[in-house]
Amino acid sequence: MTGEFAGLAAIVTGGASGIGRATAVELSARGARVAVLDLDPRGLPEGIAGITADVSSRASVEAAVAEAATVLGGLDVVVNNAGIGATGTVADQGDDEWHRVLDVNVVGMARVVTAALPWLRRSDHASVVNLSSIAALNGLPGRALYSASKGAVLSLTLAMATDHVREGIRFNCVCPGTADTPWVQRLLAQADDPTAERAALRARQPIGRLVTPEEVANAILYLASPRSASTTGTVLDVDGGVTHLRVRP
Ligand code: NAD
Repeated sequence: MTGEFAGLAAIVTGGASGIGRATAVELSARGARVAVLDLDPRGLPEGIAGITADVSSRASVEAAVAEAATVLGGLDVVVNNAGIGATGTVADQGDDEWHRVLDVNVVGMARVVTAALPWLRRSDHASVVNLSSIAALNGLPGRALYSASKGAVLSLTLAMATDHVREGIRFNCVCPGTADTPWVQRLLAQADDPTAERAALRARQPIGRLVTPEEVANAILYLASPRSASTTGTVLDVDGGVTHLRVRP
């Protein structure tokens, strides 16, 4: 294999759909050996290994990461992408839903990194990229629990980057804006007026359109690449300008 990631092994959690799938495809195209860990890893393109895994179960994660490292012959790149949404204000969900979302979105990443660390320590190009969100940096309406989970991902990224910098393992995160994935398509389908909702989401974007999964994947690969060896503990917005730009309506 040739390419920027030739000789490297990568896992992508939640890589069967949306941003994760685009990331797995691009990693493979740039030469990595890739395994996707997903609740339902069916239908992946040829050359990408699919492993059934649930990031909310430590036993499942340990088994899946070990299988991936065996199949791929090691582990250099981890993309913590699996995540679930939650809508509502702080008072709209009970304890069970708070625990469920934080368990998948935050503790899930801790489980995957813990299981991957022994292999990452053996790699000369170890890199972890976590999926945070603009919800970590902006007060979005009706996203209290989801925002809390993505804020935690951002803070966890910085903490892990510090703890493991002397071991040569890099940790970074991306904060995508609204990206046109099956997840967002599901949300739009539930809206009273999906066309108006899509128009409202587009109007929020200074670039005038939603982010594409491929654009997020490209940012993830930039951070994961051996060419970015001095980049650790960073937060990269891929949001069409929504976090920092104030355009006149
Ligand atoms: P998606 O729903 O299209 O894909 C998510 C994938 O994760 C699915 O394949 C699903 O099976 C898998 N998954 C869910 N729970 C899992 C679990 N417990 N164990 C293993 N796999 C599991 O979502 P997407 O829009 O591509 O989002 C991917 C990531 O990007 C998420 O972490 C999300 O929070 C983040 N993000 C998305 C957007 C957006 O607008 N789409 C914006 C910011 C951040």
